[in-house]
Amino acid sequence: MAVTAHDAMAAPRRVSILGSTGSIGCSTLDIIEHHGDAFVVEALTAHRNVERLAAQAIMLRPRVAVIGDAAAYRQLKEALSGTGVAVAAGPDALVEAAHRPADWTMAAIVGAAGLEPTIAAIRRGAVVALANKECLVSAGRLMMDEVRAAGATLLPVDSEHNAIFQVFDFEQPESVESIILTASGGPFRTMDRAVMAHVTPAQAIAHPNWDMGAKISVDSATLMNKGLELIEAHHLFGLPAERIEILIHPQSVIHGMVAYVDGSVLAHLGAPDMRTPIAHALGWPERISTPAARLDLAKLGQLTFEPPDLERFPALRLAGQALKTGGAAPTILNAANEIAVQGFLAGRIGFLDIARIVEETLATVDEPDVSDLSEIRDIDHRARAAAQELLGPS
Ligand code: NAD
Ligand code: MG
Repeated sequence: MAVTAHDAMAAPRRVSILGSTGSIGCSTLDIIEHHGDAFVVEALTAHRNVERLAAQAIMLRPRVAVIGDAAAYRQLKEALSGTGVAVAAGPDALVEAAHRPADWTMAAIVGAAGLEPTIAAIRRGAVVALANKECLVSAGRLMMDEVRAAGATLLPVDSEHNAIFQVFDFEQPESVESIILTASGGPFRTMDRAVMAHVTPAQAIAHPNWDMGAKISVDSATLMNKGLELIEAHHLFGLPAERIEILIHPQSVIHGMVAYVDGSVLAHLGAPDMRTPIAHALGWPERISTPAARLDLAKLGQLTFEPPDLERFPALRLAGQALKTGGAAPTILNAANEIAVQGFLAGRIGFLDIARIVEETLATVDEPDVSDLSEIRDIDHRARAAAQELLGPS
C-alpha cells in the first residue's frame, strides 16, 4: 500500500536502507539527516564495511545493523556495544532485515546479490525505492509479478527512470508513444576502440558527471549501464524494446523524456546529483527539499545530443538483444557482466574483454525460459561459472 501524504505528515516515516554504506546508501542517509525528525531508521545493511556501517548506526540509531559478511559480526558487535542497536550478520540476516516493518525501503545493494533482500521487502507490500537495477534485469518479470501480488509500490531511483516516472502519464498509458533514456556516454564517449583496449580501471571509474560505486562506473564506461537500464525501463513502464530509445546527452541535464501520440515530449531536468531522485522517492508522494546543486542552464549554455554508437559500445547492443530474446537471456547477460567487471577491476582482463565475455557467455549458456526464482538463481550461477571460465586463470 502506498503511504499517503497525510500519513507522511502525521508520523515519521520508518525507513530501512539495504546497502547503506554505498554511494546511493550514503546519499540516502544524507537526505534523512537533512530532514531530522521526519524519518526513523529501522535497519541498515552493508556487505563488509564495518567501520562505515557502525558510524552510520551510531549516528542514526536503527533498530538493527546487519553486515552481510558473517566473519565481520564480532567487529560490528563490539563497535555497537552499549548503543542499543541490535547486530546481525550473514545473508539470511540481510533478508530478515528486509522483512522488518518499514514504511519505505531503499534497495541499494549492488548486483544480483540484492535480489533476495529486495524481494523480501517487496513481499511486505510496502514502498520499495529501487536503485538496485541488476535484480530487476535478472528477475524482471518475476519481480514485477511479486510487486503486483503483494500490492507493493516500486519507486524508481535510477535517475533516468525516476525522471520518466515523473513525466509518464500513468492515467493514459496508451497515449505514450515512446520513452527516451539519456546517457552521458561515459568517460570514453569519443575514444577509438584501439585506445579503449588499453584503458585502466582508474580511467574507467572516473566518470565525467556522476560520483558512483565502482561497478556502475565501469558499466557506464562500457554503456552496459544503459543496456541494463533499457531492460529496467521495459519492466518498470511495460513498453517493448522498440518503444524505448537511448540518446547520448553528455551534459546529463535531461535525465529522461516521454513522447506522446500528439507529438508532445515531456522532459525531466536536474543537476546530476542522485540526491534529487532519491529525495523524490523518499518523500513520495510529497516533495522534500535537498541540498543538491541547482541547475544553472544559462551557465551551461548548451545541451547536446547524439545517437549511441553500437559498434564502439557493443554492450548496449547485447543488452538490447537480450531484452528481445527474453527468457533467461537478461539473467545471463547480467551475471556475466558482473563477473567480467570484477575481472576488469582486478586487472585480469582488458576493458574490451568485458563485452566479449558477456557475448560469449550468452552463446555458451543455453536459454530455457524461467518460471520461478530458484531457476533464476540456478541460471545466474551457471552464467557466473561460465564467465569465470572465460576470464581465464587468475
Ligand atoms: P556501491 O558499490 O557504492 O554500494 C553497494 C552497497 O551494497 C554497499 O553498501 C555494499 O556494502 C552493499 N553490497 C555489495 N555487495 C553486497 C553483497 N554481496 N551483499 C550485500 N550487500 C552488498 O554501489 P552504488 O553505486 O551505491 O550502487 C548501488 C545500486 O544502485 C547499484 O545497483 C547501481 O547500479 C544502482 N545505481 C547507482 C547509482 C549511483 O549514482 N551510484 C545511480 C543509479 C543506480
Ligand atoms: Mg541511471
